[in-house]
Amino acid sequence: MEVIRGVHQIRIPIPETSLEYINAYVVEGDEGNLLIDTGWNTPAAFDALKQQLKESGFGFKDINQIVVTHVHPDHYGLAGRITQLSGARLALHEAEINLIDSRYVNFEKLLQEMGEYLRRHGTPQKDLPTIQKASLWVKEFVVPVLPEIILKGGEEISIGSFQFEVLWTPGHSLGHICLYEPIRKLLFSGDHILFETTPHIGLHPQSGKNPLGDFINSLKEVENLEVNFVFPGHGPVFSGLKQKVWEILYHHEQRKLAITKAIRDELKTAYQIANEIPWMPEQGGVAFSDLSPWDKRLAVLETLAHLELLITEGKAETMVENERVFFWGGG
Ligand SMILES: [Zn+2]
Ligand SMILES: [Zn+2]
Repeated sequence: MEVIRGVHQIRIPIPETSLEYINAYVVEGDEGNLLIDTGWNTPAAFDALKQQLKESGFGFKDINQIVVTHVHPDHYGLAGRITQLSGARLALHEAEINLIDSRYVNFEKLLQEMGEYLRRHGTPQKDLPTIQKASLWVKEFVVPVLPEIILKGGEEISIGSFQFEVLWTPGHSLGHICLYEPIRKLLFSGDHILFETTPHIGLHPQSGKNPLGDFINSLKEVENLEVNFVFPGHGPVFSGLKQKVWEILYHHEQRKLAITKAIRDELKTAYQIANEIPWMPEQGGVAFSDLSPWDKRLAVLETLAHLELLITEGKAETMVENERVFFWGGG
């Protein structure tokens, strides 16, 4: 589907759900095209990409560059196959490259670290194995590949009459990038800014020290760009970037308040705190106990990201007892 002249949106299904999809984009150039993000490596995702490329008049050989916004499986999973089929050069931020081996190749160490991390943060022994292994299944949907082009942010990428600027936007992932096109005022936002939901921000062994602080800075980085349309990694294309940034910032302020309240008078682990605050506000709020193991894990990591920011702001303190990490509001 050509969303604006020269930009085609491709909707690629995500396994395990029938509704959700990831948006890839093809930008037309004079001598070959740019593909932004790829989808998972499943037969259905591959077929969707191939079919929709064809409907737009392209084959894999017409792609000569691929930019992946971050290495989460829904954006990066098919990159290995598409580079092979097209001969395209793959570009990734340097901070994402370091995550490929530990996530998708030699993953046992990270799995163990994650288990230990979740245990220290209060995950009960009986739930630990399922929560620890909740993301293991995604591995099979990724064909790992290293990029030919290593980005740091600030580069320019020319595709036909499009002049993209690479913006490093850490937060959702440490090496997340957006592409900004200042002539047409377009922002390809990956998972940094979505329309229907707020992106997941979690503190974990691969996230950097203060991912929510990074994320808020990255939001402020893009907030004042002149943007007519945002092309996100999921959900609809939209305008009104400033308003959306404001909503996301407000959401995190609300969550910080809920957490501050939960730890006002009592020492609690991140797991306990995650149990006490509402999740999925866009679905009207879901109790922690009703979340899937995968979402429970995201909730604990998201709670930790907020706690870390509260600590840097002097609004929370931490102490370790019997190898468990506790938080409290201080004062
Ligand atoms: Zn993501
Ligand atoms: Zn995504």
